[in-house]
Amino acid sequence: MEDLKSGRGVQVVTPGEDHTFSLDVEALEALLLREDIKDRSVVVISVAGAFRKGKSFLLDFFLRYMQHKYNLGGSGEWMGAENEPLSGFSWRGGSERDTAGLLLWSQPFKATLDSGEKVVVYLMDTQGTFDSESTVRDNATIFALSTMLSSVQIYNLSQNIEEDDLQHLQLFTDYGRLAQESSGGKPFQRLQLLVRDWSFPYEHAYGAEGGRELLDKRLTVHEGQHHELQSLRKHIASCFEELACFLMPHPGLKVATNPEFNGKLSDISQDFKNSLRQFVPMLLAPENLILKRIGGQKLKSKDLWLYFKSYMNIFNGSSLPEPKTILEATAEANNLSAVAEAKEVYETIMEELAGGSKPYLQPQLLEEEHRRARDKALHSFHSKKKMGGDSLSETYSIKLTKELEDQFEQYRQYNAEKNLLRKLGPLAVLCALALL
Ligand code: GDP
Ligand code: MG
Repeated sequence: MEDLKSGRGVQVVTPGEDHTFSLDVEALEALLLREDIKDRSVVVISVAGAFRKGKSFLLDFFLRYMQHKYNLGGSGEWMGAENEPLSGFSWRGGSERDTAGLLLWSQPFKATLDSGEKVVVYLMDTQGTFDSESTVRDNATIFALSTMLSSVQIYNLSQNIEEDDLQHLQLFTDYGRLAQESSGGKPFQRLQLLVRDWSFPYEHAYGAEGGRELLDKRLTVHEGQHHELQSLRKHIASCFEELACFLMPHPGLKVATNPEFNGKLSDISQDFKNSLRQFVPMLLAPENLILKRIGGQKLKSKDLWLYFKSYMNIFNGSSLPEPKTILEATAEANNLSAVAEAKEVYETIMEELAGGSKPYLQPQLLEEEHRRARDKALHSFHSKKKMGGDSLSETYSIKLTKELEDQFEQYRQYNAEKNLLRKLGPLAVLCALALL
Protein backbone atom coordinates (compact mmCIF):
# COMPACT_ATOMS: atom_id res chain seq x y z
CA MET A 1 0.00 0.00 0.00
CA GLU A 2 1.40 3.33 -1.06
CA ASP A 3 1.79 6.05 1.51
CA LEU A 4 0.54 9.52 0.56
CA LYS A 5 3.93 10.89 1.54
CA SER A 6 5.57 9.05 -1.33
CA GLY A 7 3.19 10.67 -3.82
CA ARG A 8 3.54 14.01 -5.53
CA GLY A 9 1.87 16.36 -7.97
CA VAL A 10 3.21 15.40 -11.39
CA GLN A 11 3.39 18.31 -13.75
CA VAL A 12 1.87 16.97 -16.97
CA VAL A 13 1.23 20.23 -18.81
CA THR A 14 3.73 23.10 -18.63
CA PRO A 15 3.58 26.48 -20.33
CA GLY A 16 6.59 27.39 -22.45
CA GLU A 17 7.57 30.51 -24.35
CA ASP A 18 5.16 32.35 -26.62
CA HIS A 19 2.08 30.88 -25.04
CA THR A 20 2.92 27.35 -26.01
CA PHE A 21 2.33 24.37 -23.76
CA SER A 22 4.18 21.14 -23.50
CA LEU A 23 2.96 17.77 -22.43
CA ASP A 24 5.18 15.53 -20.35
CA VAL A 25 4.43 12.47 -22.42
CA GLU A 26 6.56 10.11 -20.36
CA ALA A 27 5.10 11.16 -17.03
CA LEU A 28 1.59 10.92 -18.37
CA GLU A 29 2.20 7.55 -19.95
CA ALA A 30 3.66 6.16 -16.73
CA LEU A 31 0.55 7.29 -14.91
CA LEU A 32 -2.34 6.63 -17.27
CA LEU A 33 -1.09 3.52 -19.04
CA ARG A 34 -0.11 1.59 -15.93
CA GLU A 35 -0.98 -2.04 -16.55
CA ASP A 36 -3.38 -2.40 -13.59
CA ILE A 37 -5.17 0.83 -14.45
CA LYS A 38 -5.28 1.48 -18.17
CA ASP A 39 -8.51 -0.44 -18.74
CA ARG A 40 -10.41 1.11 -15.85
CA SER A 41 -12.99 3.84 -16.43
CA VAL A 42 -11.83 7.16 -15.05
CA VAL A 43 -13.13 9.78 -12.67
CA VAL A 44 -11.19 13.03 -13.05
CA ILE A 45 -11.66 15.70 -10.44
CA SER A 46 -10.00 19.00 -11.22
CA VAL A 47 -9.81 22.27 -9.35
CA ALA A 48 -9.39 25.47 -11.36
CA GLY A 49 -9.66 29.17 -10.70
CA ALA A 50 -7.52 32.16 -9.80
CA PHE A 51 -4.16 31.98 -8.10
CA ARG A 52 -3.71 31.76 -4.29
CA LYS A 53 -7.28 31.04 -3.43
CA GLY A 54 -6.77 27.77 -1.62
CA LYS A 55 -7.13 25.28 -4.51
CA SER A 56 -4.15 23.10 -3.65
CA PHE A 57 -4.95 23.38 0.05
CA LEU A 58 -8.40 21.95 -0.65
CA LEU A 59 -7.00 19.15 -2.82
CA ASP A 60 -4.82 18.03 0.05
CA PHE A 61 -7.96 17.33 2.04
CA PHE A 62 -9.25 15.37 -0.95
CA LEU A 63 -6.06 13.32 -0.76
CA ARG A 64 -6.64 12.59 2.92
CA TYR A 65 -10.15 11.41 2.17
CA MET A 66 -9.02 9.23 -0.74
CA GLN A 67 -6.25 7.66 1.33
CA HIS A 68 -8.54 6.95 4.28
CA LYS A 69 -11.52 5.72 2.33
CA TYR A 70 -10.06 3.89 -0.66
CA ASN A 71 -6.51 2.93 0.22
CA LEU A 72 -7.09 2.05 3.86
CA GLY A 73 -10.76 1.07 3.51
CA GLY A 74 -11.66 3.24 6.50
CA SER A 75 -15.02 4.68 7.46
CA GLY A 76 -16.04 7.62 9.65
CA GLU A 77 -13.56 10.37 10.49
CA TRP A 78 -11.06 10.85 7.69
CA MET A 79 -9.61 14.27 8.28
CA GLY A 80 -6.60 13.17 10.28
CA ALA A 81 -4.91 14.16 13.53
CA GLU A 82 -5.24 17.67 14.96
CA ASN A 83 -1.53 18.37 14.80
CA GLU A 84 -0.57 16.82 11.51
CA PRO A 85 0.80 19.28 8.92
CA LEU A 86 -1.11 19.25 5.64
CA SER A 87 0.90 17.82 2.76
CA GLY A 88 0.32 16.78 -0.83
CA PHE A 89 0.01 19.28 -3.68
CA SER A 90 2.16 22.22 -2.71
CA TRP A 91 -0.10 24.91 -1.35
CA ARG A 92 1.93 27.64 0.26
CA GLY A 93 3.23 30.99 -0.92
CA GLY A 94 6.77 31.44 0.34
CA SER A 95 9.79 32.10 -1.81
CA GLU A 96 9.37 29.16 -4.13
CA ARG A 97 7.29 30.13 -7.10
CA ASP A 98 4.93 27.38 -8.18
CA THR A 99 5.08 26.56 -11.86
CA ALA A 100 1.94 27.01 -13.87
CA GLY A 101 0.17 24.20 -15.63
CA LEU A 102 -1.75 21.04 -14.93
CA LEU A 103 -0.70 18.57 -12.28
CA LEU A 104 -1.97 15.07 -11.63
CA TRP A 105 -1.44 13.29 -8.34
CA SER A 106 1.10 10.54 -8.94
CA GLN A 107 -0.94 7.93 -7.11
CA PRO A 108 -4.14 6.98 -8.91
CA PHE A 109 -6.81 5.81 -6.48
CA LYS A 110 -8.61 2.60 -7.27
CA ALA A 111 -12.27 2.58 -6.33
CA THR A 112 -15.29 0.33 -6.79
CA LEU A 113 -18.65 1.89 -7.60
CA ASP A 114 -21.89 0.69 -6.03
CA SER A 115 -22.58 -1.09 -9.32
CA GLY A 116 -19.42 -3.14 -8.79
CA GLU A 117 -17.55 -1.39 -11.59
CA LYS A 118 -13.88 -0.90 -10.87
CA VAL A 119 -12.68 2.60 -11.66
CA VAL A 120 -9.71 4.86 -11.10
CA VAL A 121 -9.86 8.34 -9.63
CA TYR A 122 -7.40 11.05 -10.66
CA LEU A 123 -7.03 14.34 -8.82
CA MET A 124 -5.93 17.29 -10.90
CA ASP A 125 -4.56 20.62 -9.74
CA THR A 126 -4.22 23.66 -11.95
CA GLN A 127 -2.04 26.70 -11.57
CA GLY A 128 -2.09 30.04 -13.28
CA THR A 129 0.96 32.29 -13.19
CA PHE A 130 -0.63 35.75 -13.04
CA ASP A 131 2.79 37.34 -13.09
CA SER A 132 3.97 39.97 -15.54
CA GLU A 133 4.79 37.59 -18.39
CA SER A 134 1.56 35.73 -18.29
CA THR A 135 -1.64 36.63 -19.95
CA VAL A 136 -5.26 35.92 -19.47
CA ARG A 137 -5.01 33.63 -22.48
CA ASP A 138 -2.66 31.19 -20.74
CA ASN A 139 -4.99 30.91 -17.83
CA ALA A 140 -7.95 30.47 -20.12
CA THR A 141 -6.06 27.63 -21.79
CA ILE A 142 -5.35 25.88 -18.52
CA PHE A 143 -8.94 26.34 -17.49
CA ALA A 144 -10.17 24.98 -20.83
CA LEU A 145 -7.92 21.89 -20.69
CA SER A 146 -9.04 21.23 -17.16
CA THR A 147 -12.72 21.37 -18.12
CA MET A 148 -12.25 19.24 -21.23
CA LEU A 149 -10.40 16.52 -19.35
CA SER A 150 -12.35 16.30 -16.11
CA SER A 151 -15.65 14.74 -15.10
CA VAL A 152 -15.98 17.14 -12.19
CA GLN A 153 -14.68 20.63 -12.71
CA ILE A 154 -14.46 22.51 -9.45
CA TYR A 155 -14.41 26.21 -10.14
CA ASN A 156 -12.85 27.81 -7.09
CA LEU A 157 -13.99 31.37 -6.50
CA SER A 158 -13.18 33.92 -3.88
CA GLN A 159 -15.99 35.47 -1.85
CA ASN A 160 -18.76 35.52 -4.43
CA ILE A 161 -19.89 34.56 -7.95
CA GLU A 162 -19.10 37.59 -10.12
CA GLU A 163 -20.05 38.32 -13.69
CA ASP A 164 -16.40 37.80 -14.77
CA ASP A 165 -16.41 34.33 -13.30
CA LEU A 166 -19.34 33.36 -15.46
CA GLN A 167 -17.76 34.91 -18.54
CA HIS A 168 -14.77 32.59 -18.24
CA LEU A 169 -17.19 29.85 -19.17
CA GLN A 170 -17.99 31.47 -22.51
CA LEU A 171 -15.67 29.26 -24.55
CA PHE A 172 -17.45 26.16 -23.28
CA THR A 173 -20.88 27.41 -23.99
CA ASP A 174 -19.98 27.72 -27.69
CA TYR A 175 -18.21 24.39 -27.68
CA GLY A 176 -21.20 22.91 -25.88
CA ARG A 177 -23.59 24.06 -28.55
CA LEU A 178 -21.49 22.45 -31.29
CA ALA A 179 -20.96 19.25 -29.32
CA GLN A 180 -24.68 18.95 -28.77
CA GLU A 181 -25.36 19.31 -32.46
CA SER A 182 -22.77 16.62 -33.10
CA SER A 183 -23.67 14.02 -30.51
CA GLY A 184 -26.87 14.97 -28.76
CA GLY A 185 -25.92 14.94 -25.08
CA LYS A 186 -24.45 17.63 -22.87
CA PRO A 187 -20.67 17.68 -23.29
CA PHE A 188 -19.62 17.94 -19.66
CA GLN A 189 -20.72 16.27 -16.49
CA ARG A 190 -20.48 18.41 -13.40
CA LEU A 191 -19.54 22.01 -12.80
CA GLN A 192 -19.09 22.54 -9.10
CA LEU A 193 -18.69 26.12 -8.09
CA LEU A 194 -16.99 26.57 -4.76
CA VAL A 195 -17.17 29.99 -3.17
CA ARG A 196 -14.42 30.51 -0.56
CA ASP A 197 -14.66 32.92 2.37
CA TRP A 198 -18.40 33.28 1.92
CA SER A 199 -19.37 35.98 4.39
CA PHE A 200 -23.12 36.33 4.11
CA PRO A 201 -24.40 33.12 5.74
CA TYR A 202 -27.42 35.05 6.99
CA GLU A 203 -28.43 35.55 3.33
CA HIS A 204 -27.51 32.09 2.06
CA ALA A 205 -26.34 29.46 4.51
CA TYR A 206 -22.94 27.74 4.18
CA GLY A 207 -23.04 24.51 2.21
CA ALA A 208 -24.83 23.06 -0.79
CA GLU A 209 -28.31 24.43 -0.10
CA GLY A 210 -27.15 28.04 0.24
CA GLY A 211 -24.96 27.50 -2.81
CA ARG A 212 -27.91 26.34 -4.87
CA GLU A 213 -29.83 29.50 -3.89
CA LEU A 214 -26.94 31.78 -4.81
CA LEU A 215 -26.35 29.99 -8.10
CA ASP A 216 -30.01 30.18 -9.04
CA LYS A 217 -29.96 33.86 -8.31
CA ARG A 218 -26.84 34.44 -10.45
CA LEU A 219 -28.06 32.35 -13.35
CA THR A 220 -31.52 33.84 -13.50
CA VAL A 221 -32.14 35.61 -16.76
CA HIS A 222 -33.56 39.08 -16.15
CA GLU A 223 -35.58 41.17 -18.48
CA GLY A 224 -33.62 44.16 -19.65
CA GLN A 225 -30.35 42.25 -19.17
CA HIS A 226 -27.91 42.55 -22.02
CA HIS A 227 -28.57 39.95 -24.69
CA GLU A 228 -25.08 38.44 -24.37
CA LEU A 229 -25.46 37.94 -20.64
CA GLN A 230 -28.80 36.28 -21.20
CA SER A 231 -27.50 33.81 -23.73
CA LEU A 232 -24.42 33.07 -21.63
CA ARG A 233 -26.64 32.11 -18.71
CA LYS A 234 -28.88 29.94 -20.83
CA HIS A 235 -25.99 28.10 -22.41
CA ILE A 236 -23.99 27.40 -19.26
CA ALA A 237 -26.82 25.21 -18.09
CA SER A 238 -26.90 23.39 -21.41
CA CYS A 239 -23.18 22.50 -21.27
CA PHE A 240 -23.13 20.66 -17.96
CA GLU A 241 -25.31 17.78 -16.88
CA GLU A 242 -25.09 19.06 -13.35
CA LEU A 243 -24.44 22.51 -11.97
CA ALA A 244 -23.86 22.95 -8.28
CA CYS A 245 -22.45 25.50 -5.90
CA PHE A 246 -21.14 25.18 -2.36
CA LEU A 247 -20.56 28.09 0.00
CA MET A 248 -17.47 27.67 2.14
CA PRO A 249 -16.84 29.64 5.33
CA HIS A 250 -13.58 31.47 6.02
CA PRO A 251 -10.94 29.06 7.40
CA GLY A 252 -9.76 31.44 10.12
CA LEU A 253 -7.01 34.02 10.39
CA LYS A 254 -4.17 31.58 10.97
CA VAL A 255 -4.86 29.92 7.62
CA ALA A 256 -5.20 33.17 5.75
CA THR A 257 -2.40 35.23 7.26
CA ASN A 258 0.02 33.35 9.53
CA PRO A 259 3.28 32.54 7.71
CA GLU A 260 4.01 29.79 10.27
CA PHE A 261 0.76 27.97 9.52
CA ASN A 262 1.50 24.42 8.36
CA GLY A 263 -2.01 23.24 7.66
CA LYS A 264 -2.70 21.51 10.96
CA LEU A 265 -6.37 21.05 11.80
CA SER A 266 -6.15 22.71 15.19
CA ASP A 267 -5.43 26.03 13.43
CA ILE A 268 -8.44 25.81 11.12
CA SER A 269 -11.86 27.18 12.05
CA GLN A 270 -14.51 24.70 13.15
CA ASP A 271 -16.96 26.03 10.57
CA PHE A 272 -14.49 25.38 7.79
CA LYS A 273 -13.81 21.84 8.98
CA ASN A 274 -17.52 21.11 9.27
CA SER A 275 -18.04 22.32 5.73
CA LEU A 276 -15.17 20.14 4.49
CA ARG A 277 -16.82 17.14 6.16
CA GLN A 278 -19.87 17.79 3.99
CA PHE A 279 -18.22 18.91 0.81
CA VAL A 280 -15.47 16.31 0.33
CA PRO A 281 -17.69 13.18 0.50
CA MET A 282 -20.24 14.93 -1.72
CA LEU A 283 -17.67 14.60 -4.48
CA LEU A 284 -15.58 11.63 -3.48
CA ALA A 285 -17.76 9.05 -1.72
CA PRO A 286 -18.16 5.97 -3.97
CA GLU A 287 -21.87 6.67 -4.53
CA ASN A 288 -21.05 10.20 -5.73
CA LEU A 289 -18.18 9.50 -8.11
CA ILE A 290 -18.90 10.66 -11.66
CA LEU A 291 -17.28 8.84 -14.54
CA LYS A 292 -15.74 10.88 -17.31
CA ARG A 293 -17.73 10.60 -20.51
CA ILE A 294 -17.20 12.16 -23.90
CA GLY A 295 -19.90 11.92 -26.55
CA GLY A 296 -21.78 9.63 -24.19
CA GLN A 297 -18.92 7.12 -23.95
CA LYS A 298 -17.11 6.30 -20.73
CA LEU A 299 -13.41 7.04 -20.90
CA LYS A 300 -10.89 4.46 -19.83
CA SER A 301 -7.54 5.57 -18.52
CA LYS A 302 -5.90 4.72 -21.86
CA ASP A 303 -8.53 6.86 -23.64
CA LEU A 304 -7.81 9.79 -21.34
CA TRP A 305 -4.26 9.53 -22.63
CA LEU A 306 -5.48 9.92 -26.24
CA TYR A 307 -7.58 12.95 -25.34
CA PHE A 308 -4.67 14.60 -23.53
CA LYS A 309 -2.58 14.26 -26.66
CA SER A 310 -5.29 15.50 -29.06
CA TYR A 311 -6.14 18.53 -26.97
CA MET A 312 -2.54 19.47 -26.42
CA ASN A 313 -2.01 19.63 -30.17
CA ILE A 314 -4.65 22.27 -30.60
CA PHE A 315 -4.12 24.22 -27.38
CA ASN A 316 -0.52 24.71 -28.38
CA GLY A 317 -1.09 27.37 -31.00
CA SER A 318 -0.77 31.09 -30.55
CA SER A 319 -4.43 31.75 -29.96
CA LEU A 320 -7.12 29.97 -28.04
CA PRO A 321 -8.55 27.38 -30.40
CA GLU A 322 -11.98 27.94 -31.82
CA PRO A 323 -14.72 25.79 -30.31
CA LYS A 324 -15.01 24.15 -33.73
CA THR A 325 -11.36 23.07 -33.58
CA ILE A 326 -11.85 21.69 -30.08
CA LEU A 327 -14.80 19.70 -31.30
CA GLU A 328 -12.74 18.31 -34.16
CA ALA A 329 -9.98 17.25 -31.78
CA THR A 330 -12.56 15.58 -29.57
CA ALA A 331 -14.01 13.70 -32.52
CA GLU A 332 -10.53 12.65 -33.58
CA ALA A 333 -9.62 11.24 -30.16
CA ASN A 334 -13.01 9.60 -30.06
CA ASN A 335 -12.32 7.77 -33.32
CA LEU A 336 -8.77 6.89 -32.30
CA SER A 337 -10.10 5.27 -29.16
CA ALA A 338 -12.54 3.17 -31.21
CA VAL A 339 -9.67 2.17 -33.53
CA ALA A 340 -7.51 1.10 -30.57
CA GLU A 341 -10.33 -0.97 -29.16
CA ALA A 342 -10.97 -2.66 -32.50
CA LYS A 343 -7.29 -3.54 -32.85
CA GLU A 344 -7.36 -5.14 -29.44
CA VAL A 345 -10.30 -7.27 -30.55
CA TYR A 346 -8.30 -8.43 -33.58
CA GLU A 347 -5.11 -9.08 -31.65
CA THR A 348 -6.83 -11.06 -28.93
CA ILE A 349 -8.34 -13.45 -31.46
CA MET A 350 -5.20 -13.75 -33.58
CA GLU A 351 -2.85 -14.24 -30.63
CA GLU A 352 -5.03 -17.05 -29.41
CA LEU A 353 -4.65 -18.81 -32.76
CA ALA A 354 -1.35 -17.80 -34.18
CA GLY A 355 0.62 -16.21 -31.34
CA GLY A 356 4.24 -17.05 -30.55
CA SER A 357 3.60 -20.29 -28.67
CA LYS A 358 0.95 -21.58 -31.05
CA PRO A 359 1.70 -24.26 -33.64
CA TYR A 360 1.86 -23.74 -37.38
CA LEU A 361 -1.47 -23.31 -39.19
CA GLN A 362 -2.39 -24.10 -42.78
CA PRO A 363 -2.17 -20.75 -44.62
CA GLN A 364 -5.72 -21.05 -45.83
CA LEU A 365 -6.99 -21.61 -42.31
CA LEU A 366 -4.95 -18.69 -41.05
CA GLU A 367 -6.45 -16.45 -43.67
CA GLU A 368 -9.98 -17.53 -42.80
CA GLU A 369 -9.33 -16.79 -39.17
CA HIS A 370 -7.88 -13.43 -40.08
CA ARG A 371 -11.04 -12.53 -41.97
CA ARG A 372 -13.18 -13.56 -39.05
CA ALA A 373 -11.08 -11.52 -36.60
CA ARG A 374 -11.00 -8.54 -38.96
CA ASP A 375 -14.79 -8.56 -39.32
CA LYS A 376 -15.21 -8.70 -35.57
CA ALA A 377 -12.80 -5.80 -35.13
CA LEU A 378 -14.56 -3.70 -37.77
CA HIS A 379 -17.87 -4.51 -36.17
CA SER A 380 -16.50 -3.32 -32.83
CA PHE A 381 -15.37 -0.09 -34.46
CA HIS A 382 -18.66 0.57 -36.24
CA SER A 383 -20.88 -0.25 -33.31
CA LYS A 384 -19.15 2.25 -31.05
CA LYS A 385 -20.84 5.62 -30.96
CA LYS A 386 -18.47 8.23 -32.32
CA MET A 387 -18.43 11.96 -32.77
CA GLY A 388 -17.58 13.77 -35.99
CA GLY A 389 -20.03 12.15 -38.36
CA ASP A 390 -19.84 9.31 -40.90
CA SER A 391 -17.24 10.81 -43.19
CA LEU A 392 -14.67 11.15 -40.39
CA SER A 393 -15.42 7.69 -39.11
CA GLU A 394 -15.05 6.31 -42.65
CA THR A 395 -11.50 7.70 -42.81
CA TYR A 396 -10.61 5.91 -39.60
CA SER A 397 -12.34 2.76 -40.74
CA ILE A 398 -10.14 2.66 -43.85
CA LYS A 399 -7.05 3.30 -41.75
CA LEU A 400 -8.06 0.53 -39.37
CA THR A 401 -8.63 -1.95 -42.20
CA LYS A 402 -5.19 -1.16 -43.59
CA GLU A 403 -3.55 -1.62 -40.20
CA LEU A 404 -5.28 -4.94 -39.69
CA GLU A 405 -4.07 -6.15 -43.10
CA ASP A 406 -0.53 -5.11 -42.16
CA GLN A 407 -0.81 -7.01 -38.96
CA PHE A 408 -2.10 -10.05 -40.79
CA GLU A 409 0.91 -9.89 -43.07
CA GLN A 410 3.11 -10.18 -39.99
CA TYR A 411 1.17 -13.14 -38.66
CA ARG A 412 1.41 -14.73 -42.10
CA GLN A 413 5.18 -14.35 -42.27
CA TYR A 414 5.58 -15.59 -38.76
CA ASN A 415 3.48 -18.61 -39.55
CA ALA A 416 5.63 -19.36 -42.60
CA GLU A 417 8.74 -19.26 -40.39
CA LYS A 418 7.13 -21.73 -38.03
CA ASN A 419 6.55 -24.01 -41.01
CA LEU A 420 10.15 -23.80 -42.09
CA LEU A 421 11.40 -24.71 -38.64
CA ARG A 422 8.92 -27.52 -38.48
CA LYS A 423 10.20 -28.93 -41.79
CA LEU A 424 13.85 -28.62 -40.93
CA GLY A 425 13.29 -30.34 -37.61
CA PRO A 426 14.97 -29.85 -34.22
CA LEU A 427 18.45 -30.85 -35.43
CA ALA A 428 18.51 -28.12 -38.05
CA VAL A 429 17.45 -25.61 -35.44
CA LEU A 430 20.38 -26.64 -33.23
CA CYS A 431 22.77 -26.29 -36.18
CA ALA A 432 21.38 -22.92 -37.04
CA LEU A 433 21.84 -21.79 -33.47
CA ALA A 434 25.40 -23.13 -33.36
CA LEU A 435 26.24 -21.15 -36.47
CA LEU A 436 25.05 -17.87 -34.88
P1 GDP B 1 -3.85 28.09 -4.87
O1 GDP B 1 -2.86 28.96 -5.58
O2 GDP B 1 -5.27 28.43 -5.28
O3 GDP B 1 -3.55 26.64 -5.04
O4 GDP B 1 -3.78 28.45 -3.32
P2 GDP B 1 -3.07 27.61 -2.14
O5 GDP B 1 -3.80 26.34 -1.88
O6 GDP B 1 -1.62 27.53 -2.41
O7 GDP B 1 -3.34 28.57 -0.89
C1 GDP B 1 -2.89 29.90 -0.86
C2 GDP B 1 -3.04 30.46 0.53
O8 GDP B 1 -4.41 30.56 0.90
C3 GDP B 1 -2.40 29.60 1.60
O9 GDP B 1 -1.63 30.45 2.43
C4 GDP B 1 -3.54 29.00 2.38
O10 GDP B 1 -3.25 28.90 3.77
C5 GDP B 1 -4.66 30.00 2.19
N1 GDP B 1 -6.00 29.41 2.14
C6 GDP B 1 -6.37 28.13 1.91
N2 GDP B 1 -7.71 28.00 1.90
C7 GDP B 1 -8.22 29.25 2.13
C8 GDP B 1 -9.55 29.78 2.21
O11 GDP B 1 -10.56 29.09 2.08
N3 GDP B 1 -9.63 31.12 2.48
C9 GDP B 1 -8.55 31.93 2.64
N4 GDP B 1 -8.75 33.21 2.89
N5 GDP B 1 -7.30 31.47 2.52
C10 GDP B 1 -7.12 30.15 2.28
MG1 MG C 1 -1.99 25.76 -6.06
